[in-house]
Amino acid sequence: MKHINLLIILFLTLIFADSCQKMEPIAVIPEPLECSPKKGHFSLDEETFLCFSNFPEDKRDIQNTIREQYTKFFKLRPNLGDAESAGKNSILFEVNQKNDKSLGDEGYELTITGRRIVARANSAAGLFYAFQTLKQMSYGSLLADGGKPTIPCAKIKDRPRFAYRGAHLDVSRHFFDTDYIKKYLDRMAVYKLNKFHWHLTDDHGWRIQIDKYPALTQKGAWRPERSKWDTLHPVLPDEPMTYGGFYTKDQVREIIAYAAARNIDVIPEIEIPGHCSAILAAYPQFACDNYPYTVAVGPYWPPKAIMCAGNDGVLEFYKDVLQEVAELFPYPYIHIGGDEAFNDNWQVCPKCQQRIADKQLKDEMALQQWLMNEIEKYLKKLDKKAIIWDDIVSEDMVNMSTIMSWQDPKAAVIAANHGNDIIRCPTSHCYFNFYQDDPEKEPLAMTGLITLEKAYSFDPMPAGLSDKAKQHILGGQCNLWTEFINTPEQADYMIYPRICALAECVWTDPSHKDWKKFQNKVEMHTAFRKR
Ligand SMILES: [Zn+2]
Repeated sequence: MKHINLLIILFLTLIFADSCQKMEPIAVIPEPLECSPKKGHFSLDEETFLCFSNFPEDKRDIQNTIREQYTKFFKLRPNLGDAESAGKNSILFEVNQKNDKSLGDEGYELTITGRRIVARANSAAGLFYAFQTLKQMSYGSLLADGGKPTIPCAKIKDRPRFAYRGAHLDVSRHFFDTDYIKKYLDRMAVYKLNKFHWHLTDDHGWRIQIDKYPALTQKGAWRPERSKWDTLHPVLPDEPMTYGGFYTKDQVREIIAYAAARNIDVIPEIEIPGHCSAILAAYPQFACDNYPYTVAVGPYWPPKAIMCAGNDGVLEFYKDVLQEVAELFPYPYIHIGGDEAFNDNWQVCPKCQQRIADKQLKDEMALQQWLMNEIEKYLKKLDKKAIIWDDIVSEDMVNMSTIMSWQDPKAAVIAANHGNDIIRCPTSHCYFNFYQDDPEKEPLAMTGLITLEKAYSFDPMPAGLSDKAKQHILGGQCNLWTEFINTPEQADYMIYPRICALAECVWTDPSHKDWKKFQNKVEMHTAFRKR
């Protein structure tokens, strides 16, 4: 009888233990390279130790972000420690002393048991991503009744497919303050995106302080406030210019530091030579003609404003501006535009025609190539490299800039075969200002439809490349043009959940992508965001 009782207790214990230690669902976006779920979970509480080991001195900002996010996200004040104090009930973030090639620059390894969590990586960036994964793994517990944070046991090994994983934001059509820029960076960081493309200048407003040309922000950053964007009316002479804004250099530095602490590089874009109404409103002497340019209000097509490529002052202007921009931004790349440069004015401008004759250029398109090359040469002197929209790509191009490919993939293939590096953001998959659902039911957006499923089907690697040319595909990004997006809420509405799709397209190996599983994960992430 005694033995039978013991057997029953043992049997019940086994059943109970098993029911307590069932596998919990793991919903990480982007999908990790390898993930083996185990039974049980790690519980976080006031006693949990947060331990850091071997963080490089110059990456303390990332360590601090992990600590701050831990406190804010889990609503727990951690006990801080190092490798020595990383025992029971601890999370250790350790930079490998010996480089583990299988993890690369941004990969990480996570071992989660009921007793402790260990994250290892070759870099602070990898550990930051390990922490983003841990946060997402707790969504299920935080959504459940009681909401006590737990993380399912698992072994994870992860690294990105592409080094360039970006998101773009147009702050010219509508201005977004630094609070929102920081939120945007936070949203990017959760999904392991690491390049912020800041579209700072366009027809509808110049958004960055330039000391040598104060009118750029005194005049070029402001336009009349109009409640509607969908109709174009010219600016009236007595209309107050009250709508707009710009970033001071101190604010720009603040954003760069905030981004760096989240492993995000900031790429400023200064549009050359088109999309320049805001410049010409401030400095009309840089135009080919005497047209009274104003900061643009509302949509119009084609945007005819173009800087005079025959005017030496224009080249000097760009050099001065880029010098100040280069001093501010530490990342080696500056985006210099080059898209939609309608050259009608160049065709009839004596100065531009003189330049074409002097430089023995074939036509106006060659004049743009010449101008972009001059700028590229100047950037080299500043130890910077240029990114240019793919409008400049042609079979006979000489330019060696990095190409941002937004149009037909043919341009990306031509440029990659030519030896240019490529960043892909085709309008077919990556323009998140397009409708995401039936236009009849959606708020006004840019014509075009990119559903979540369509966004998820994006492959940054175009077909038809040799192995050598494939090395030139750096990755991809989503673009958010803000013609029809005038509030932070609307911007969030347009990027979610498509930013999740983009993240998986640029991080996850295609063999691990799974549309059905992705939909389930998005459901959980959406529920978590809206909780
Ligand atoms: Zn001209």
